[in-house]
Amino acid sequence: MSYCVHCGVELDPTARTCPLCHTQVVDPQQPVDTELPPPFPSRREEVPPVSKKEVALLLTAMLASVAVCCGLLNLLFLHSSRPWSLYVIGAAVMLWMWLVPPLLLRGMPLWLRLGLDACAVGVYVYLISIDLHGLEWYLGLALPIILTGGAVVVALGFLLRGRSILSSLILIIGGVGIFIMSIELYVDRWLTGRWQPGWSLVVAAVCLSMMIPLIVVRWRPALRDEVRKRFHM
Ligand SMILES: [Zn+2]
Repeated sequence: MSYCVHCGVELDPTARTCPLCHTQVVDPQQPVDTELPPPFPSRREEVPPVSKKEVALLLTAMLASVAVCCGLLNLLFLHSSRPWSLYVIGAAVMLWMWLVPPLLLRGMPLWLRLGLDACAVGVYVYLISIDLHGLEWYLGLALPIILTGGAVVVALGFLLRGRSILSSLILIIGGVGIFIMSIELYVDRWLTGRWQPGWSLVVAAVCLSMMIPLIVVRWRPALRDEVRKRFHM
């Protein structure tokens, strides 16, 4: 039994170097045994990463089978006056659009992904509007809100690339303010035909009052460094 002269770890008779500190083993009393198999395998193997294509295929199969089963049940057995399976099919389509394209298209830009996600929401709400015979509110109210939300999210995904936390925060709060104001605009236009900003102005004012100090901090190097130090940014 020999021990490493440097770190004292117990050495296997087949070791040429210490497994811990890699000091060469020199023991004239007990030369390195080259006959015995070494205690550790010399080959290194790694668990292969899960194939993204297979995960995408599995997700597609799961969602498609749920959608098809519900559609068939609705058509053949549980058919009522309302196409309830559209809710499930729409949810399956939406989930598919959220989960599968990012798995298959490597390096897909974030803004494109977010745009597709917003389209998926639009498709889902469209299916609901079919069931509720609400094409009018879909086109007049829901679609403009979804499109504006999607545009804000896509713009943020585009603008936030490589930004600092402070700049990102300013842009996100600004985006939320714009989106909230657009919601009131669409609701007012839908209900009364005129835009009478009220509650959304309060939200916008809150957003603005949060953005102004952040903008000041962002553009004053001394303040910015202080905030970064204190909040570990
Ligand atoms: Zn050692």
